[in-house]
Formats: sequence, C-alpha cells, structure tokens
Amino acid sequence: MKVPLLDLKKQYETIKDEALQVTKEIFESQYFILGPKVETLEKEIAAYCSSTYARGVSSGTDALLISLMAADIGQGASVITTPYTFFGTAGSIVRAGAVPVFADIDPDTYNISPKSIEKVISTMPKTEREKLKGIIPVHLYGQCADMGPILEIAEKYKLIVIEDAAQAIGSEYNERRAGSMGDFGCFSFYPSKNLGAFGDGGIVTTGSDDFNEKIRILRDHGQDPKYFHQVIGGNFRLDALQAAIVSIKLKHLDTWSQARQENANRYSILFKESGLEDRVQVPYEKENRHIYNQYIIRLEDKRDNLRAFLLDCKIGTDIYYPVPLHLQECFKYIGYKTGDFPVAEMAANHTLAIPVYPELSPDQQAYVVEKITEFYC
Ligand SMILES: *Cc1c(COP(=O)(O)O)cnc(C)c1O
Repeated sequence: MKVPLLDLKKQYETIKDEALQVTKEIFESQYFILGPKVETLEKEIAAYCSSTYARGVSSGTDALLISLMAADIGQGASVITTPYTFFGTAGSIVRAGAVPVFADIDPDTYNISPKSIEKVISTMPKTEREKLKGIIPVHLYGQCADMGPILEIAEKYKLIVIEDAAQAIGSEYNERRAGSMGDFGCFSFYPSKNLGAFGDGGIVTTGSDDFNEKIRILRDHGQDPKYFHQVIGGNFRLDALQAAIVSIKLKHLDTWSQARQENANRYSILFKESGLEDRVQVPYEKENRHIYNQYIIRLEDKRDNLRAFLLDCKIGTDIYYPVPLHLQECFKYIGYKTGDFPVAEMAANHTLAIPVYPELSPDQQAYVVEKITEFYC
C-alpha cells in the first residue's frame, strides 16, 4: 500500500470543475492582479476568521513581513518568537530589520511557552527590554498557542502581537479564531496548507482600521494615490487566480478540517491498541479546535531509522523541523548555542509527521500504525 504524506490530487478531483471554470473566466477577463476576486476573498476570510479585515498578500512569509512593516517594527527593534517553527517566521523579523529573540516551547503542544516568554523578558537588561516591540506566536501544526497568557504579557510590556496562523486557519482558542486575537493574523495559501492555492499566496487579518489601511498601501509599493509614495512598501500583491481558487476551496474547508480531526482521533485509538504507548507519543490536544495541518508523533528513540523504514514501506513522513532556528547557520551572529532551548531541541530530534490529510482512508491509517508497530516490536 502506498501512503503519501499529502495527496493533493484527490482534493483537486472534488473542485476540478469549478476551478477550471474560474480559470477560464480569469483568463478571458485578463484581470490578473488584486481586483474583485481578491476583494471577495478578503471579505470571506475576514468573516471566516472572525476578523474585521483581511488583505490578500503574496505569501504567508510576506504576510508576516508586511505586518511588521505596518507596525513599524524594524531597525533597532527586537521581536520574541519560537525557535521551533518554519524558517519564515524568524526570517521575516530579520528582513524587517529587527532581531529575533527566542523563547522555548511547551513540550506538550510544541507552541511557544508563555512561561519562557515571561522569563526571557524579565531577565533582559533594561536597554534590551526597551527594544522589544512585538511577539510572534505560531499556532504550530494547527493548534493555537496559549494566547490568554501571551496577550497578557503583550499588554503588560506594550508589545504588538502578530499571530503566525499559517498552519492554523479555522483553529480556535477558547472559541476565538486563529488570527482574530492579536493585532495581526498571518495566513499562508501555500499548496500544502489546509487552505492552499495553486501557487503562492497569503492573507493578513486585523481588527485595526489603521493597520488595514497601512497593509493596503504597503502591499503595492506604498503608493497612495498611484505614483505618490509616502512610505516604501513592496510588491506583496495577491493574484486574482489564487484568490479565486482559495474562495472555491474555502467552502470545503470545514469538511476537510473535520476529516483531519477524525483521522487524528482514529490514529490515537490505533496507537493505543498497538501497545506502543511507551515509545510513541500522540499529539496532545487541548480543549480548543485543532485543525491538524500536521499530525506529529514523538518517538522515544530511533526516529530516523523509523523514517527510513517507513519510506521503504512507501509511507510518506517528514520532520518539522530538524534544526531549531536558534541553531541555524544564518542566525549564528545572534549568539545562541546548543542547549539554550532544550525543549525545541528535543522536539527537533524526536518528532515525525505522518499522513493526516482529509482523504486518507482508515485502511491506510491502519497500515501506517501496523508498520510503526512492526518496526518497534
Ligand atoms: C508555511 C508557513 C509560513 C510561510 O508561508 P509561505 O506562504 O510559504 O510564505 C510561515 N510560517 C509558518 C508557521 C508556516 O508554516
């Protein structure tokens, strides 16, 4: 049996007719960038994410960058984030001109730990604390970070909160949607996300009139009106085609998220039955709505051998992420070293993503767990 980590072709079958129809419409209109399709998507996403506004941008990474720019966080500033995330989170901080300050993660959820944030801030010298302007919590794998205490910390130290919700569209924390809790919510439409386009794309949500307007201007070179520039922005525009595809998929998103949750529940039962509880730790799910962009297991030992074995069995897996950001070559100049964030380092060495996409069949799941059991027994 073959079990890929993700099978987008199956999903495409369900939206093919609509997608081809809208592609034809856009090709015939020759209206490719921003415009009515993007505006429609912006209204739909704002409503879906319980946010006042949404602005389409070129990618999830650019959503982060433009949010930092809109909040005027750049040269001389620092921003707290997690060392255990996709590179773009911290890369955007540096591209904005600021410095990332890492705080360790919670071993249960792999999300940034409010306790570590508080510890990092309270042990900063006063001059460093004055530079601190923001926090970027990441809702990793589709589960919201512990936003209650994070928002309290932000309030206490007057920090802008940018939610990196690239993996978490529709997930909830105490019934609040991802992207509606901070000053900004950043989403990605990269094809492998739960709501993926047919190329690159992203969107920023915000409840602020001021930030909404700034993003609108910054995403098109800062021009307002055309050819008059009071600020320097960039080309962060979203294509009509990507927006139209995302609008079509959005109608299916809740069904797909529910299928992912059902698959996650099925894995938990299968792993329990397998008797592997000492060796394989399944995801820890809080009360909140988890949308399982990834299903991550933690392995006591032999993670890399298991991965090679599964590859031989034609089961797709991946490691998110093998090198925590504080240990990346390009961030060496900041001065972090091995041992600084033990939980993130443990996660990098012991976790593995296994297939959880909506169209995965119960048979395929049983096969995955059977092969993992075979490997360890
Ligand atoms: C995918 C992702 C991004 C970047 O999104 P792109 O659209 O690929 O630029 C940022 N942060 C996280 C956590 C992601 O998973």
